[in-house]
Amino acid sequence: MKIASTITILSLVISGHLAKAQNNSKDTQKVKTVTSGTLDTSKGKMRRARGSFGNFVDKTQTPGYIPHETFDPTFMYEPGQPYRSGSGAPGPMYWQNRADYKIAATLDTNTKSIIGTVEITYTNNSPDELNYLWLQLDQNLFSTSSRGHFKTPIGGGRFGNVEFSGGDSISSVSIVKNGAKGPETTAITDYVITDTRMQIRLKTPMKAKGDKMTIKIAYSFKIPPDGSDRMGMTETQKGRIYEIAQWYPRMCVYDEVEGWNIEPYLGAAEFYLEYGDIDFSVTVPSDMIVAGSGELQNPTEVLTQTEIDRLNKAKASDAKVTIVGVDEIGKPSTHLKSNGNVTWHYKISNTRDASWACSTAFIWDAARINLPTGKKCMSMSFYPIECKDDSSWGRSTEYVKASIEFYSKTYYVFPWPCASNIAGNVHGMEYPGIVFCGWKSKMSQLFFVTTHEFGHNWFPMLVGSNERKYAWMDEGFNTFINIYSGQNFNKGEYNKAQTPDQLIGFAKRDSNVVMTYEDCMPQRDIGMLCYFKPGEALYLLREYVVGHDRFDYAFHSYINRWAFKHPTPKDFFRSMNEGTGEDLNWFWKEWIFKSWQLDQSVSEVKYSAGDTVNGTKGAEITIKNNKQMVMPVIIEVKESNGHTGRVTLPAEIWQALGVWKFHYNSTSTITSVTIDPDKVMPDADRSNNTWPATTN
Ligand SMILES: [Zn+2]
Repeated sequence: MKIASTITILSLVISGHLAKAQNNSKDTQKVKTVTSGTLDTSKGKMRRARGSFGNFVDKTQTPGYIPHETFDPTFMYEPGQPYRSGSGAPGPMYWQNRADYKIAATLDTNTKSIIGTVEITYTNNSPDELNYLWLQLDQNLFSTSSRGHFKTPIGGGRFGNVEFSGGDSISSVSIVKNGAKGPETTAITDYVITDTRMQIRLKTPMKAKGDKMTIKIAYSFKIPPDGSDRMGMTETQKGRIYEIAQWYPRMCVYDEVEGWNIEPYLGAAEFYLEYGDIDFSVTVPSDMIVAGSGELQNPTEVLTQTEIDRLNKAKASDAKVTIVGVDEIGKPSTHLKSNGNVTWHYKISNTRDASWACSTAFIWDAARINLPTGKKCMSMSFYPIECKDDSSWGRSTEYVKASIEFYSKTYYVFPWPCASNIAGNVHGMEYPGIVFCGWKSKMSQLFFVTTHEFGHNWFPMLVGSNERKYAWMDEGFNTFINIYSGQNFNKGEYNKAQTPDQLIGFAKRDSNVVMTYEDCMPQRDIGMLCYFKPGEALYLLREYVVGHDRFDYAFHSYINRWAFKHPTPKDFFRSMNEGTGEDLNWFWKEWIFKSWQLDQSVSEVKYSAGDTVNGTKGAEITIKNNKQMVMPVIIEVKESNGHTGRVTLPAEIWQALGVWKFHYNSTSTITSVTIDPDKVMPDADRSNNTWPATTN
């Protein structure tokens, strides 16, 4: 999902970070060796405070910081188990269920409806017998009796539903295959629909460990014009664009963590879906082009020979090839059939979802994507004439190609045959192999929304976390990888300077935390808590806490362990702790579970004893941690002889104390000491970051 607009700016500006880090590495060559920090215990004695009631002030501590709260040995203490190991990997008894779908749907352009049937083959790999199944009927959000409707603010908002009266209409539910038994059709009448969920109560339970059942559901729904900014319709000069998603009943995930994951679709929080293969056919008027997740199975039944020839050319081309050009929109020669309907057949394997879009208005272009394995796949864009220019969607295929190639090289190879970018009213929404981006986006905005939505093909499409409960595991991780995608694109064409300042402002005014349901956040906080803060956390962890090599090794292990599986937050924390070889629980606690602020300061510089000319024998520098968050410390020291040195100290200096002294080998008078000189940390009060204190 695209970040809210104010926060988009934040994610755009993140991308200056790497250049800064590279500058730092130059500076660190000049760093002086610093003796490890020493605590002067004589200064640590409790002293009597001025108060008349005998209060004591411990000068080794600061009032706003309690070390054992941050460094908490009981945090994430629960042991691993056979399903999920203490190392963060799937355990020897890990299992997950499977859902394969066969869908046939028709678009009725008169009633603006979808009429379909879905056959779900569900495999129960769990050790449990299942007496009932839970499915998601996401369209029910778009009904005026849904919880999401009642939860929508009077003014509307991005995700809710104010007055559209839609929802899934279920005309039949039946079992068409049960276990080893051959085809049969048993109508099911014993089902319950509660808001966006449907429970099918089984007469005969599904057996544990491998039982299969195929359920057929006939359904229809009216297409919401604006479906929570995730699907809908767009009117353009040459026709309407349909962006179709959450369009078939989908299985809830059953796992060993919670059993059935049955949180309803309320609008903000996204999805948690089972893996399987999806084979879908959509029937639309013959003058439309359909783009779908996966690979088109019947090109000769829907495309002209010219289009097929051009697609073959695109398969061998790094530059975009036009499949349907500006002058070909709406021409009879663009379509194989001149009237009636045409059925487009798509298939996508090992996926948690599938979506599609169709229109009479599409320009269509494509280029090949080169994967690190030597395999190729396709980058494609579908957009109306209004956004044909290179300042707009004319470069979309280039953005898609660069993003998929970068993420494939850096994180995990893109597993699907095609990556299609669709222009429409949806501002930014992701599905496997297809994304919907705002048709009015231009230049860097279009690049970043495209690279963001396709970044979701890694988190959560490939690493299948629970979006409905832990939005930060897809939005935050994705915001993090977008930083590097932005730096990488076309020699930094859209690279921007970064600042953590928005995080500072947020931390001062808001006590909400990352680890909460997206639906439990006020809409104004979603951009910060789901996107920017967790993205910045991973960025700082990689750049300033554990370094690139160890971070990347651990992050890759996490992705490899959990690709096409269902990791929980703890699986991630443990994978990173183990992979980097660090107990990072303090970091996870303060960034993900707490709303703590960071405030580091420089409080004192004293020259060493016996120093006759100030600074020639080194100095003792005192720094403080004034609030509950800790981070490693970067300090820049300037001397009167023109020398500038940098010192970095690990977060562990704060394990016992809020006041820290260390020796610095100065050779002349120290003119200034600055903590966090590049302003990379979210330091709540920068006015105390420099010694001597400056007065304004
Ligand atoms: Zn997103």
